[in-house]
Amino acid sequence: MEEKQGVLFGKTLRQLESEVFELGLPRYTATQITDWLYKKDVTSIDEMSNLSKEAREKLSERYEMGLSEPVKVQVSVDGTKKYLYRAHNGKFIETAYIPERDRHTLCVSSQVGCKMGCLFCFTAKQGFQGNLNAGEILNQIWSLPERQLITNIVYMGMGEPFDNMEAVMQSLEILTAEYGLAISPRRITVSTIGIIPAIKTFLELSSCHLAVSLHSPFEEERRRIMPIEHVYSLTQVLEAIRSFPLGKQRRISFEYIVFKDLNHSPRHVKELARILNGIRCRINLLRFHPVPGTPLKAPDEKTLQEFKTALEKKGLTTTIRKSRGQDIYAACGLLSTKEQQPR
Ligand code: SF4
Repeated sequence: MEEKQGVLFGKTLRQLESEVFELGLPRYTATQITDWLYKKDVTSIDEMSNLSKEAREKLSERYEMGLSEPVKVQVSVDGTKKYLYRAHNGKFIETAYIPERDRHTLCVSSQVGCKMGCLFCFTAKQGFQGNLNAGEILNQIWSLPERQLITNIVYMGMGEPFDNMEAVMQSLEILTAEYGLAISPRRITVSTIGIIPAIKTFLELSSCHLAVSLHSPFEEERRRIMPIEHVYSLTQVLEAIRSFPLGKQRRISFEYIVFKDLNHSPRHVKELARILNGIRCRINLLRFHPVPGTPLKAPDEKTLQEFKTALEKKGLTTTIRKSRGQDIYAACGLLSTKEQQPR
């Protein structure tokens, strides 16, 4: 049997228009396909009942749907769930579903592992094992049992989203487009450690929120925990953000993991206030979750609170993000599928 050339789920309307053109099918078939893919719950090409028999046969010869259910779920004592999805080439990724009162956040992965090497991150220890395609990013949302409950999507799972820019931007188009899932960009946040060319493209082409991992206002210190600082300095990242006119609706946040005795002194408060001056933003403080093999330690609750108060006194809007799913390794910085990889 002829091998299928690809998957339908994750293709944009424009891509489908060119695919149907190649197959000698009418152009409107592309819109019919996006309706079936992104608006209705079908799992096979055969179920696309308003497509001609010829169209369904031609599509089935070339494509698979590309949907796949999670293969495993772990449930935390706090209600957070961590789903394991199979990616291509036998790899796995993790997705964290975090319900909280009327806010249900899904934290999606964009890569299998990561090559950025941040010292505090468990995903980094796995190394890089490949990019996800747009369909695999979207499948984490579409095939989630709680899909209908999701209110917010954050690209903060495994991988650096801006190191897989094409697939991430494609997935964002489908998530927000009228022909796609039609989710408001205000409900989507993409997080980066600061890849400047991609930040510029993202701010230009997307309306979703941006989160930047900051973790220290001092370049020398940041370099020790985030190797990306060698390539794109924090000063340059902030310049790039400052140079882009942000609409009122758009939010820039800075993620700041607090490490014991490292990055929460009065000196840090003063410098953060200086470098963020003039940027309409908020700081999200996260307590470090210890990962094996790092010298870094977690701060206590009092330290976090005092740091927050000190930042607020300087006029910086600051929140402390609750730790969720730590017992199942679903909390921030703890995702890894190293154990699931075939040896
Ligand atoms: S923190 Fe993000 S960018 Fe850094 S290694 Fe982990 S997944 Fe990669």
